[in-house]
Amino acid sequence: MGLFSFIFKMRSVKMKMFVVITLILVIYLIVSYVLLEKWYTRSQKDQDRDSLEQKWNITLQYVVVHLDLKGSPPLLSYLQSILKQLKDHGTTALLMEYEDMFPFEGALVNLTARNCYKKDELKEFLTFAVQMGLEIIPLVQTFGHMEYALKLREFQHLREDPKYPDSICPSANESQELIREILRQVIQFHSTIAPLKHIHIGFDEVYQFRVCDLCFQKKTKFEKRAERVTRNEWANSEKRVFEHDGRLLAPLARAGRPPS
Ligand SMILES: [Zn+2]
Repeated sequence: MGLFSFIFKMRSVKMKMFVVITLILVIYLIVSYVLLEKWYTRSQKDQDRDSLEQKWNITLQYVVVHLDLKGSPPLLSYLQSILKQLKDHGTTALLMEYEDMFPFEGALVNLTARNCYKKDELKEFLTFAVQMGLEIIPLVQTFGHMEYALKLREFQHLREDPKYPDSICPSANESQELIREILRQVIQFHSTIAPLKHIHIGFDEVYQFRVCDLCFQKKTKFEKRAERVTRNEWANSEKRVFEHDGRLLAPLARAGRPPS
């Protein structure tokens, strides 16, 4: 027996009225609660956003999320599942730091970890991100943080200090060849998905610097002049950084827009 037929079969008119009014009241309260809760949640979110913008008084053109994929790499399916959330929080670009998780080939095949991402799955993930409107910025270490290459026997001789695998010697031609090949493979792979606007070339935490014989000799070659002019040791260090930077930026500029 349905509720309404039950009400109609009730004898007392007062009883019928009481049940109908109670029902209307209950429905009214439920609808009001749902609408009020929605309104409160939305206004709270607006307030949070407004207060953040007011607090910092900044408008960010770029909100880049750094995905550090080495060491303990997350599954790409998991990363894909959080992209919408990142986008909703204002993310405009993903900075992809692969190191040994990139599927290098040819002369660089030994740089890859056994569990490195496969080209197909990486392409699928990046394409999904690009379709969501996110820019992809690959991060390729080119000076410090080179352990993933310099720990290998075949590249050990390119260490600035033989005792430490973190910094590469900027003066060795082989270093330039290695870094250019790494850049070439990363740029070529990403260009098949979307044209790259930016590339991050690391350059931080170069702990071993001007230690090897080659770099020391170079100092006598062109830094003495700078020393005479400036007598500033730091300026000489900068010069070496700029030289390495310049040699790397030329092929990058040819590959696309130079980093801004
Ligand atoms: Zn050196």
